[in-house]
Amino acid sequence: MPNKNEEAKSENEKKRVKLANKKAKLENKKLKQKETSSKNKKAEIENKKAENKEAKPEELNAKTSKYIKYVSIAILVLILITIIGVLNINRNKNINKDDGVTKIVTSFYPMYIIAENLVDGASNVELTNMADVNVGCLHNYTLKTEDIKKVENADIFISNGLGMESFINKLIETNNDMDVIDSSANVKNTISDDDEVNPHIWTNIDNYIEQVKTVAEKLKEYDHTNAKVYEDNKKEYISKLVKLKNKFNVELKKLQGKRAICLNEAFEYMGKDLGLQLTTLKTDHEESTLSAETLKNVIDVAKTQETKIILVDKNDNKSNAQTIANEIDAQILELNSGLAGSLDKDAYINAMEENIEKLKSVEN
Ligand SMILES: [Zn+2]
Repeated sequence: MPNKNEEAKSENEKKRVKLANKKAKLENKKLKQKETSSKNKKAEIENKKAENKEAKPEELNAKTSKYIKYVSIAILVLILITIIGVLNINRNKNINKDDGVTKIVTSFYPMYIIAENLVDGASNVELTNMADVNVGCLHNYTLKTEDIKKVENADIFISNGLGMESFINKLIETNNDMDVIDSSANVKNTISDDDEVNPHIWTNIDNYIEQVKTVAEKLKEYDHTNAKVYEDNKKEYISKLVKLKNKFNVELKKLQGKRAICLNEAFEYMGKDLGLQLTTLKTDHEESTLSAETLKNVIDVAKTQETKIILVDKNDNKSNAQTIANEIDAQILELNSGLAGSLDKDAYINAMEENIEKLKSVEN
């Protein structure tokens, strides 16, 4: 039989075992809890990592777009710098006023009269005519040494265009810094014969107005400092020319449809504008250059067509005109082609007024 002591011992033993078990259970619980929390933590970290990974492309995108922005701005700035540079080069070329004076040279008399009207009152402008005023037309002209000298230091050269200045390339070679104005640039009403354009456009007042406009606009562009002067002068001159054209139209209406022989090609434009049925002969502004054969043909045709008008320049020889006139009983009209004359600003207008008076005198 177990004694009381032994019983108590075993009782204690049981209690200890129970406690140990409880402890073990608790430890297990703790461990399990720890495991779960560490698993959770790990999962959280994994999640965060994944989130981070996902965030990275966004960050990259933001970086790329920022980069593109900077590059675009840099390109824009570069383009702007280039544009400003080019503009400056042009401006420097255009305002070649090394001595503070804009030197304008015109090729011949009609261009000189246009320029004279436009530069009136402009500051620091020097106007020179290249060819001698009495040279007349330039369409067969050979450059002289003094002409080249005048153009050598020019800033702006004003030409008629349409082949009138056949020597233009030589002038540009001499001075490639100057700006060349082609006054015919916007003239649409041109007359061609055998693929050759008649360059004497200014005898049609509407064409002349276009020439004035073109020269004025280009002067404004090349010499900014006087732009307002050129603009005001252009308006004033054109208003005078428009009045002249109206007078021309009203007073010379009766000439429409009449037949005429034109012995000076400069009047081909004026004759067409008048509505004349023209027979134009190429004479290089000198009717005496007509051959006997041509003269006979002209007379024969004029007889059958009952031509009563012959147009010549008042400075022409008139020997052939007289021969034809005697044969067909026609009236010789000695007109002013505006190729030579006084240096008066109104020289063109006066020449045209003179022509209107002569043309008005046509009898039948
Ligand atoms: Zn000519």
